[in-house]
Amino acid sequence: MSAIALGSNLGNSLETLEGALDALGQTSGIEVQSFSSWYKTAPIGPAQPDYLNGCAILAVTLSPNALLTALQAIENQFGRVRQERWGPRTLDLDILLFDDLVMNTPDLTIPHPLMSKRAFVLVPLSEIAPDWIDPVSEHKISQLKQTVDCSDVEQLRQESANKNEG
Ligand code: ATP
Ligand code: CA
Ligand code: CA
Repeated sequence: MSAIALGSNLGNSLETLEGALDALGQTSGIEVQSFSSWYKTAPIGPAQPDYLNGCAILAVTLSPNALLTALQAIENQFGRVRQERWGPRTLDLDILLFDDLVMNTPDLTIPHPLMSKRAFVLVPLSEIAPDWIDPVSEHKISQLKQTVDCSDVEQLRQESANKNEG
Protein backbone atom coordinates (compact mmCIF):
# COMPACT_ATOMS: atom_id res chain seq x y z
CA MET A 1 0.00 0.00 0.00
CA SER A 2 1.30 3.41 -0.94
CA ALA A 3 0.11 6.97 -0.35
CA ILE A 4 0.82 9.52 -3.03
CA ALA A 5 0.38 13.28 -3.39
CA LEU A 6 -1.03 14.87 -6.55
CA GLY A 7 -0.57 18.54 -7.39
CA SER A 8 -1.09 20.91 -10.30
CA ASN A 9 -1.10 24.65 -10.85
CA LEU A 10 -0.96 24.99 -14.60
CA GLY A 11 -3.62 24.45 -17.22
CA ASN A 12 -6.92 22.87 -16.22
CA SER A 13 -5.70 21.46 -12.92
CA LEU A 14 -8.92 19.70 -12.01
CA GLU A 15 -9.04 17.90 -15.34
CA THR A 16 -5.36 17.01 -15.05
CA LEU A 17 -5.69 15.59 -11.54
CA GLU A 18 -8.74 13.54 -12.41
CA GLY A 19 -7.04 12.36 -15.58
CA ALA A 20 -4.02 11.35 -13.51
CA LEU A 21 -6.23 9.25 -11.22
CA ASP A 22 -7.66 7.52 -14.29
CA ALA A 23 -4.20 6.91 -15.66
CA LEU A 24 -3.07 5.47 -12.33
CA GLY A 25 -6.02 3.10 -12.34
CA GLN A 26 -5.10 1.92 -15.83
CA THR A 27 -1.51 1.17 -14.88
CA SER A 28 -0.82 -2.49 -14.31
CA GLY A 29 0.36 -3.17 -10.79
CA ILE A 30 -1.58 -0.16 -9.44
CA GLU A 31 -5.09 -0.08 -8.05
CA VAL A 32 -6.54 3.18 -6.73
CA GLN A 33 -8.07 2.34 -3.35
CA SER A 34 -9.27 5.80 -2.37
CA PHE A 35 -8.64 9.45 -3.03
CA SER A 36 -9.23 12.68 -1.16
CA SER A 37 -11.13 15.82 -2.03
CA TRP A 38 -9.22 18.42 -3.98
CA TYR A 39 -7.86 21.42 -2.13
CA LYS A 40 -6.95 24.84 -3.38
CA THR A 41 -3.70 25.78 -1.73
CA ALA A 42 -1.63 28.94 -1.70
CA PRO A 43 1.77 28.55 -3.36
CA ILE A 44 4.86 29.06 -1.25
CA GLY A 45 7.56 31.33 -2.70
CA PRO A 46 7.33 33.50 -5.82
CA ALA A 47 4.02 34.58 -7.32
CA GLN A 48 2.37 31.79 -9.26
CA PRO A 49 -1.14 30.42 -9.54
CA ASP A 50 -2.75 28.61 -6.63
CA TYR A 51 -2.27 24.88 -6.57
CA LEU A 52 -4.83 22.16 -6.58
CA ASN A 53 -3.69 19.29 -4.36
CA GLY A 54 -4.96 15.94 -3.23
CA CYS A 55 -3.82 12.51 -2.13
CA ALA A 56 -4.59 8.92 -3.10
CA ILE A 57 -4.06 5.51 -1.56
CA LEU A 58 -2.82 2.90 -4.00
CA ALA A 59 -2.63 -0.85 -3.70
CA VAL A 60 0.57 -1.67 -5.56
CA THR A 61 2.35 -4.82 -6.56
CA LEU A 62 5.25 -2.73 -7.89
CA SER A 63 8.50 -2.00 -6.09
CA PRO A 64 8.93 1.58 -4.81
CA ASN A 65 11.29 2.38 -7.70
CA ALA A 66 8.91 0.91 -10.26
CA LEU A 67 6.09 2.95 -8.74
CA LEU A 68 8.19 6.12 -9.07
CA THR A 69 8.86 5.29 -12.72
CA ALA A 70 5.14 4.78 -13.32
CA LEU A 71 4.32 8.12 -11.63
CA GLN A 72 6.94 9.91 -13.72
CA ALA A 73 5.51 8.39 -16.91
CA ILE A 74 2.08 9.78 -16.00
CA GLU A 75 3.63 13.19 -15.17
CA ASN A 76 5.21 13.20 -18.61
CA GLN A 77 1.98 12.17 -20.25
CA PHE A 78 0.29 15.27 -18.83
CA GLY A 79 3.28 17.59 -18.71
CA ARG A 80 4.16 17.09 -22.32
CA VAL A 81 1.25 19.19 -23.51
CA ARG A 82 2.39 22.43 -21.96
CA GLN A 83 5.90 22.21 -20.74
CA GLU A 84 7.16 25.57 -19.54
CA ARG A 85 10.69 26.12 -18.64
CA TRP A 86 10.54 27.68 -15.23
CA GLY A 87 6.85 27.63 -14.86
CA PRO A 88 4.65 25.92 -12.39
CA ARG A 89 3.75 22.34 -13.11
CA THR A 90 0.92 20.69 -14.93
CA LEU A 91 1.29 17.63 -12.74
CA ASP A 92 3.41 16.55 -9.80
CA LEU A 93 3.07 13.05 -8.36
CA ASP A 94 5.07 12.25 -5.23
CA ILE A 95 5.31 9.07 -3.20
CA LEU A 96 4.51 9.94 0.41
CA LEU A 97 4.45 6.56 2.13
CA PHE A 98 5.02 2.96 1.11
CA ASP A 99 3.86 0.49 3.75
CA ASP A 100 6.10 1.20 6.73
CA LEU A 101 9.19 1.45 4.58
CA VAL A 102 11.98 3.92 5.28
CA MET A 103 14.43 4.39 2.41
CA ASN A 104 16.85 7.06 1.33
CA THR A 105 18.53 6.75 -2.05
CA PRO A 106 19.59 9.50 -4.50
CA ASP A 107 16.43 8.92 -6.56
CA LEU A 108 13.90 8.13 -3.93
CA THR A 109 13.29 9.07 -0.32
CA ILE A 110 10.38 7.45 1.51
CA PRO A 111 8.58 8.80 3.48
CA HIS A 112 8.65 11.98 1.41
CA PRO A 113 11.04 14.21 3.36
CA LEU A 114 8.73 17.25 3.46
CA MET A 115 5.48 15.39 4.00
CA SER A 116 5.27 16.10 7.72
CA LYS A 117 5.73 19.87 7.19
CA ARG A 118 3.24 20.39 4.36
CA ALA A 119 -0.35 21.27 5.16
CA PHE A 120 -1.28 20.77 1.49
CA VAL A 121 -0.26 17.12 1.91
CA LEU A 122 -1.41 16.43 5.47
CA VAL A 123 -4.91 17.86 5.09
CA PRO A 124 -5.93 15.63 2.15
CA LEU A 125 -3.99 12.65 3.49
CA SER A 126 -5.78 12.95 6.84
CA GLU A 127 -9.04 12.59 5.01
CA ILE A 128 -8.19 9.14 3.65
CA ALA A 129 -5.46 7.80 5.95
CA PRO A 130 -5.64 9.54 9.36
CA ASP A 131 -4.31 6.52 11.25
CA TRP A 132 -1.38 5.66 8.99
CA ILE A 133 1.74 5.99 11.12
CA ASP A 134 4.66 7.89 9.64
CA PRO A 135 7.54 5.44 10.26
CA VAL A 136 10.02 8.29 10.80
CA SER A 137 8.22 10.36 13.43
CA GLU A 138 6.05 7.43 14.56
CA HIS A 139 3.10 9.80 14.67
CA LYS A 140 -0.21 9.31 12.96
CA ILE A 141 -0.98 11.49 9.93
CA SER A 142 -3.85 13.05 11.89
CA GLN A 143 -1.41 14.01 14.65
CA LEU A 144 1.09 15.49 12.19
CA LYS A 145 -1.68 17.59 10.67
CA GLN A 146 -2.24 19.24 14.02
CA THR A 147 1.33 20.54 14.00
CA VAL A 148 1.04 22.58 10.78
CA ASP A 149 -0.83 25.74 9.78
CA CYS A 150 -3.70 24.62 7.56
CA SER A 151 -5.21 28.07 6.95
CA ASP A 152 -4.11 28.24 3.30
CA VAL A 153 -5.63 24.87 2.38
CA GLU A 154 -9.20 25.24 1.23
CA GLN A 155 -11.43 22.35 0.19
CA LEU A 156 -12.72 22.77 -3.36
CA ARG A 157 -16.50 22.82 -3.52
CA GLN A 158 -17.92 20.38 -6.03
CA GLU A 159 -20.20 22.96 -7.72
CA SER A 160 -17.33 25.29 -8.47
CA ALA A 161 -15.28 22.33 -9.57
CA ASN A 162 -17.91 21.35 -12.13
CA LYS A 163 -18.29 24.87 -13.44
CA ASN A 164 -14.53 25.22 -13.59
CA GLU A 165 -14.61 28.62 -11.93
CA GLY A 166 -11.62 30.11 -10.25
P1 ATP B 1 9.43 18.20 -3.61
O1 ATP B 1 10.13 16.89 -3.50
O2 ATP B 1 9.93 19.23 -2.64
O3 ATP B 1 7.94 18.08 -3.55
P2 ATP B 1 9.29 18.39 -6.44
O4 ATP B 1 8.18 17.42 -6.33
O5 ATP B 1 9.01 19.68 -7.14
O6 ATP B 1 9.85 18.77 -5.01
P3 ATP B 1 10.55 17.05 -8.59
O7 ATP B 1 11.29 17.96 -9.51
O8 ATP B 1 9.17 16.63 -9.00
O9 ATP B 1 10.52 17.70 -7.14
O10 ATP B 1 11.37 15.71 -8.34
C1 ATP B 1 12.74 15.71 -8.20
C2 ATP B 1 13.22 14.29 -7.88
O11 ATP B 1 12.80 13.87 -6.60
C3 ATP B 1 12.67 13.20 -8.77
O12 ATP B 1 13.44 13.07 -9.92
C4 ATP B 1 12.78 11.93 -7.87
O13 ATP B 1 13.84 11.10 -8.27
C5 ATP B 1 13.08 12.51 -6.52
N1 ATP B 1 12.34 11.92 -5.39
C6 ATP B 1 12.91 11.55 -4.22
N2 ATP B 1 12.01 11.05 -3.36
C7 ATP B 1 10.80 11.10 -4.01
C8 ATP B 1 9.48 10.72 -3.64
N3 ATP B 1 9.21 10.19 -2.42
N4 ATP B 1 8.50 10.89 -4.55
C9 ATP B 1 8.76 11.43 -5.77
N5 ATP B 1 9.99 11.81 -6.18
C10 ATP B 1 11.01 11.65 -5.31
CA1 CA C 1 6.29 17.66 -4.94
CA1 CA D 1 7.77 15.49 -7.54
